[in-house]
Amino acid sequence: MTVMEPIIATTEPQQRINLLGLTRGQMEQFFEGLGEKRFRAQQVMKWIHHHGVLDFELMTNVGKNLRHKLAQCAEIKPPDIAEQQDSVDGTRKWAVRVEGGSLVEAVLIPDGDRATLCVSSQVGCSLDCKFCSTGKQGFQRDLTAAEIIGQVWLAIDSYDAWQPGKGRVVTNVVMMGMGEPLLNFDNVVAAMSLMTDDIGYGLSKRKVTLSTSGVVPALDRLAEFSDVSLAISLHAPNDAIRSTIVPINKRHPIADLLASGKRYLDAQTDKKRVVTIEYTLLAGINDQPEHAHELTVLLRDYPCKINLIPFNSFPNSGFSRPSGNAVSRFWKVLIDAGFVVTVRTTRGDDIDAACGQLVGEVVDKTRRAERYRAQYALEAPQ
Ligand code: SAH
Ligand code: SF4
Repeated sequence: MTVMEPIIATTEPQQRINLLGLTRGQMEQFFEGLGEKRFRAQQVMKWIHHHGVLDFELMTNVGKNLRHKLAQCAEIKPPDIAEQQDSVDGTRKWAVRVEGGSLVEAVLIPDGDRATLCVSSQVGCSLDCKFCSTGKQGFQRDLTAAEIIGQVWLAIDSYDAWQPGKGRVVTNVVMMGMGEPLLNFDNVVAAMSLMTDDIGYGLSKRKVTLSTSGVVPALDRLAEFSDVSLAISLHAPNDAIRSTIVPINKRHPIADLLASGKRYLDAQTDKKRVVTIEYTLLAGINDQPEHAHELTVLLRDYPCKINLIPFNSFPNSGFSRPSGNAVSRFWKVLIDAGFVVTVRTTRGDDIDAACGQLVGEVVDKTRRAERYRAQYALEAPQ
């Protein structure tokens, strides 16, 4: 299905359409399908995404008849929260139960007057990056647009922060939870459009970031549908290393991936934008000074900033986290070559898993929250 494909309204009560994940265009089509005016779309979307209202009866500027009609054929249904955990440092993590019972995770990382929400796009992941616990779980299914945007809705709702003036609970979103967003293209694009739409969550396109491990054909299509910030999970300075840790590299090697990322930037109206290059440092694999030097050559003249993520270990990963010295050495080579580099390193020496590992196992709650903070506290665009 393409993003703008018409949504067929149904009057079957058992087939209620979930309005939570509909984009502005889809919502307008929905109302037209009901024989209603398009402006109803805006009214209802504001109730859902600005005020957190799920009950049509509470939508006071929608006439009684229409409210009744909506209740017959539609619903507004966010996913359930299976578990919520708070860290002493303010990080909040949700295990989100989606249709069918699977769990995905969303994490909110406050940082001064910003708060970055890390959102999942799939249950599991098929790409099997060797250092990623989500990859080890395999792939179950794509999340729907409602389940993706539902994570933003839930985050705001859990702080009961729908009233204007309460401060923004979510200022940035990174598509860096479980799953590969570009393999769930239509639903991710739809959800991101709701994030940036002013009758959705109204976030600036610079404050929503899609991270990909390199689905080049999908990345080539992205600029046609979206203008959010882009992060590329590079993790290696050459194809030989990358292919061993990021299997999709065998299909779409580094040169193709970087070229695709550059085309994405070139398609944007704002010419000052850069790609965030994510580089997970794995001891003895990609963290040596020669790798850093090779990276400086690879990315010379590439419009990017680099985010170094020391590996977050988990049981039986087969990898280990580099020492602080190794990280500093690597960082210095890049800085000396003139790159903008951020390192996420202070948390999580004791962390035991990474990248959206499913809830359910018994892990000390504070440590889990700490782990996620270390995992996801990537430099979010200002
Ligand atoms: N699938 C997308 C987004 C989700 S993963 C992607 O791969 O880009 C978000 C980031 O966390 C990616 O850069 C990923 O490579 C990184 N990551 C995964 N497992 C990790 C681990 N154990 N330690 C550090 N970073 C990890
Ligand atoms: Fe999937 Fe990203 Fe994990 Fe790779 S790093 S397995 S693409 S979630």
